[in-house]
Amino acid sequence: MMTNIQAPYKEECYICGSTKIEFYKKIKGFSLLKCKKCNLKWVVNITEKEIIEFYDQNYFYSNSKMGYADYLADEKNHRRNAKSILHSVNKIKDLTKLKVLDVGCAMGFLLDEARRFKACDVYGVEVSNYAYAYAKSSLEIDVIHGELDSSHFASEFFDVVFLIGTIEHLLSPKKTLAIINRVLKSDGLLVITTIDTSGLFRLYSIKPPEHLFYFNHNNIVILLTKLGFKIIKIKPYFVSYYLHDLFHRLSEFFSFSFLEFVSGVIKRKMPNFYVKIPTNEMILIVKKIEEVEDL
Ligand SMILES: [Zn+2]
Repeated sequence: MMTNIQAPYKEECYICGSTKIEFYKKIKGFSLLKCKKCNLKWVVNITEKEIIEFYDQNYFYSNSKMGYADYLADEKNHRRNAKSILHSVNKIKDLTKLKVLDVGCAMGFLLDEARRFKACDVYGVEVSNYAYAYAKSSLEIDVIHGELDSSHFASEFFDVVFLIGTIEHLLSPKKTLAIINRVLKSDGLLVITTIDTSGLFRLYSIKPPEHLFYFNHNNIVILLTKLGFKIIKIKPYFVSYYLHDLFHRLSEFFSFSFLEFVSGVIKRKMPNFYVKIPTNEMILIVKKIEEVEDL
């Protein structure tokens, strides 16, 4: 069934409920609003069908400004970042043999690392058919194809849920957070990374239909608190990049082809050189403190 989210959110801010909202931008036919009170920017006219069509195989091998240049070629790096996140979480909660869910798990590298690291019992949800098929067949991970749905898991099933670079892609973050709240055990953790529009680096592209919500470290806390979570940790997210990939991304962001040339040289001369740098993203580790009803 197609859902159009335009209607209910036109009158007020998706997070804080303020009516002080203004038109922000129209890109590729997608309209964004901005809340003058909490600064949330979000897309108001996209359908579920448009989202699903967007995440085909091209998303993971894209020369456009969206998606990934070559997701699988960067596998080592994705795994390195996944391990870093798992170690951070493990300091707060011993992950040994816990049940974990990754919503928007892509090809399943984080889940595979969680299995290797602490023998976690792993589950994934992934909207891209291509990524889902890879995680399922190549890594033999229990992945559901589609969006997280209320019918998928029993209440209080998981110890930890991950939303890594996923929440900004969702049609309805509130709905997904409410489901996550329900499927988490009473002291379960939720780990989120997303762009912080008021963070250390305020450079980011507005790019629907890929990114639909543009949070900052204040309004995301309001959202999470409303959905029954308490913030344990929130900080800038450091990410490892291959140096050639970093130059490739900069080249795309600034539309400056010389940087792409540099990227090519680095890729030939030192393909495995990587740097860990602060990004325009934040990482949040939050705890479920109360039950909320599924929306
Ligand atoms: Zn607001």
